[in-house]
Amino acid sequence: MLFIRTRFPEIRFEHICEVCGKTEMLTPQEAFDAGWDYPPHIGDFGIISPRTCKECSMLDTAWAKLVLEHKMPSELTAEQRETIQRISDEPKTILAGIDPIEF
Ligand SMILES: [Zn+2]
Repeated sequence: MLFIRTRFPEIRFEHICEVCGKTEMLTPQEAFDAGWDYPPHIGDFGIISPRTCKECSMLDTAWAKLVLEHKMPSELTAEQRETIQRISDEPKTILAGIDPIEF
């Protein structure tokens, strides 16, 4: 979501590594500096692409299964299908728990 970068660059939101399950509340810049592949610096909210921490490989992501291995959604694991749903519903799925007054 563009507003996170342009209007609220300091907002912390939940970063969820889809491979190892690690979560961290970070600003976009903190996440980038910590090696996360995550929008808004890498990819866009709501568009399927890797959502990984610095430890994990993009080759293990739902994106890689669909785009690089040409799998059908029905061939993915339940966790990978959940990831796709979560990405599709961004940013509300990662902003949950943030006080709306901050906006
Ligand atoms: Zn990870």
